[in-house]
Amino acid sequence: MALRLSTDVITLRTKHPFTIARGGSSDYRVVWARLTDGDGVDGWGEADPSSYYGETADTVLEALRRLEPYLPDDPFDLETAEARFAQVVPRNGAARSALSAALHDLVGKRLGQPLYRLWGLDPRKAPVSSFTIGLDTPEMMRQKVLEAASYPILKIKLGTDRDEEILRTIRDATDKPIRVDANAGWTVDRALRMLPVLKEYGVELLEQPLPPDDLEGIARVRRQGILPVVVDESCLTAADIPRVAAAADGINIKLAKCGSLREALRMIATARAHSMLVMVGCMIETSLGITAAAHFTPLADAADLDGAALTANDPFVGARIDGGGIQLPAEPGLGVRRR
Ligand code: MG
Repeated sequence: MALRLSTDVITLRTKHPFTIARGGSSDYRVVWARLTDGDGVDGWGEADPSSYYGETADTVLEALRRLEPYLPDDPFDLETAEARFAQVVPRNGAARSALSAALHDLVGKRLGQPLYRLWGLDPRKAPVSSFTIGLDTPEMMRQKVLEAASYPILKIKLGTDRDEEILRTIRDATDKPIRVDANAGWTVDRALRMLPVLKEYGVELLEQPLPPDDLEGIARVRRQGILPVVVDESCLTAADIPRVAAAADGINIKLAKCGSLREALRMIATARAHSMLVMVGCMIETSLGITAAAHFTPLADAADLDGAALTANDPFVGARIDGGGIQLPAEPGLGVRRR
């Protein structure tokens, strides 16, 4: 019997305005998609659109309407279903990832197994997630560091004209490991000048120092050999990896960019074939979106799955990241329930 699709828009509110190099907000509209089969079993997924990649909650709803006639008759027909979705709306990664997660959730529930088990993964191998401190005043950043007490690794947003001050503020407040994300906010000269400063402040990893297309510049930053360089905005799908492999040490995978859980697994395999580090990231999301990504983190070196932890009104309970490692739910499918 055919699958039925229903959708809801959820407006997420962050605990603090969340700001990065290209701006910020306190309200994030995400889309909750549910697929119901003939036996009344539900599969849940979430779309977390980013205007940077050309999507909003409204374009997600429109894309889902366009995809509805292409839902598979058999939810286990995952590979064909995802390929068809990508043909119909190739540029709507966030929208497609909601259906991908919902189908995988449904299949896991039908089989009575959590998704990580269907993939043969050991949940104890999930890495520790970092927690992000967005751009803010020194006083607010000190407070955010205190609020992040239970998170063992911090990720700091940079890409401003006061990056040294931000680093000093954070380092004065904590001696935790720090990762830095410039969100494409630097020039090559600025990045080269920042490298020794980052090193001095004990930063362990640098994400997306330069604009996505400046792979030559990113390669120059990496060749200094001072810090591992990971690309995020430069790498959306597995097809990007051979091109970025010469420029960066690793990739940051997000479902909103790559469009499906199976594409995320292909990205991991392709990155490994190029001896690259694998990081799993997120947007501002509920625990539903976070949990879909968390299920493949046992294959990753690093995770930045703080999207739900940054929000004040997460309607779901799923994977948890506080206090250390990622804790995957053991219930069938994604293992997510309403709060
Ligand atoms: Mg990033």
